[in-house]
Amino acid sequence: MDPTPANRETIDATHLDPLLRFSPSVAEQYEDEHGRRREADLRRNALVGICIFNIYNVTGSFLMPDITALAIAVRLLFFTPVALLLVWSIGRVGAVWRERLMLTGMTGAIVPPVMLFWLTQSPLGAYSVAEILLAVLFGNIVLTLRFTHAIIMTAISFVVGLLAIITKVGLEDGLRLALLLQLATACGCSLYANHQTEARRCRDYLVGLRVRMLRDMAEQARQRFQDLSQTDALTGLPNRRALDLCLDAWLSNGGSVAMLMIDIDHFKRFNDSLGHPEGDICLRRVAETLAASTFAREDCLCARYGGEEFAVVLKEAGRAEAARLADDLVRAVAALGLRHPGRRDMYRIVTASIGVASTEPAGAGFREDPKAALVTMADRALYMAKQGGRNRAVVYDPPPVVSLAG
Ligand code: GH3
Ligand code: MG
Ligand code: MG
Repeated sequence: MDPTPANRETIDATHLDPLLRFSPSVAEQYEDEHGRRREADLRRNALVGICIFNIYNVTGSFLMPDITALAIAVRLLFFTPVALLLVWSIGRVGAVWRERLMLTGMTGAIVPPVMLFWLTQSPLGAYSVAEILLAVLFGNIVLTLRFTHAIIMTAISFVVGLLAIITKVGLEDGLRLALLLQLATACGCSLYANHQTEARRCRDYLVGLRVRMLRDMAEQARQRFQDLSQTDALTGLPNRRALDLCLDAWLSNGGSVAMLMIDIDHFKRFNDSLGHPEGDICLRRVAETLAASTFAREDCLCARYGGEEFAVVLKEAGRAEAARLADDLVRAVAALGLRHPGRRDMYRIVTASIGVASTEPAGAGFREDPKAALVTMADRALYMAKQGGRNRAVVYDPPPVVSLAG
């Protein structure tokens, strides 16, 4: 299977960059398929985060009793309403801004614990560093910020935390170093975990997407080959194979089918006088005319039967309806007015003769092989049209069935 340039472009778009970003087209498709679920997950997890964040009002009252009022004011009166506003907005913005809002919220969530850790004079205040670490873990692992956003949030948290720990007054050197190492490992580990989770999410999606694309390409190729194998190269009409398939399908239902066998008159002489290339042009013009005259009909197929012969088949059509169509087609071909200098009869233009047959009324022949019987009868009628002087349609009239019983 040889991918078309468009397909190749689409497959190329399924490669992931080192920062785990999809190409714009894939990102759009991913959002269509998974955006709603991501939005619901973010909203639920952010609400859980806001609850946990406020539990620290309790732990804070033990660890930093000197600034309890400030801590409660910052968490409950400032951060919580802003965070709730962000949660409310994520369903009201596009995918890009939804993720940016989460980055903003998580980066903002680092500020209160860092500030309170730095301000408290309480001897137990150093233990509140756990709140900073947990915030980073939460953003990277629970919310699973997009990897580029996780890098930004982790870097800001690390730098801000680092400065707070280094400049905090009254910490023992050993404790200061231990807190710095805890901060560094929490940032490093959770960012690593975020990368693992995000890489799996992106790769799983791309593998599935590629499988779907290859399946679609295979289906397109199959369809293309099928179209080509059932299309006549010169005229673009359905070919004999398509006609056979259509007749088999219609006749297998037991319904009536009418057939018009159309043959261009004295076409050999046309080629002899004007040449084969001109003959090909004539075949195309006649094919266009036949197709245009039958185009609007339901359950009607116009095909090139072979050489200078065409066939039109009609489903559930009686002989009278088929005969009317045949007369129309004879007139339409003549109306093209294509000059035919090789003719020796009364016409000086390209004309066609048509033999019409129908499976209704059903004669004995139709029981054995209805398709062969239909073609044979249409052929006989065509022969009669030729005998009758050409440029006409003749309907095959089946001989009456004689009952021996009477
Ligand atoms: P009639 O009126 O009895 O049908 O006579 P005819 O000359 O049309 O019939 P005949 O079967 O003797 O000749 C058919 C001609 O159609 C012969 C062949 O060269 C020509 N033909 C068949 N296929 C093509 C084609 O694809 N292109 C061209 N240019 N000619 C074709
Ligand atoms: Mg012929
Ligand atoms: Mg002919």
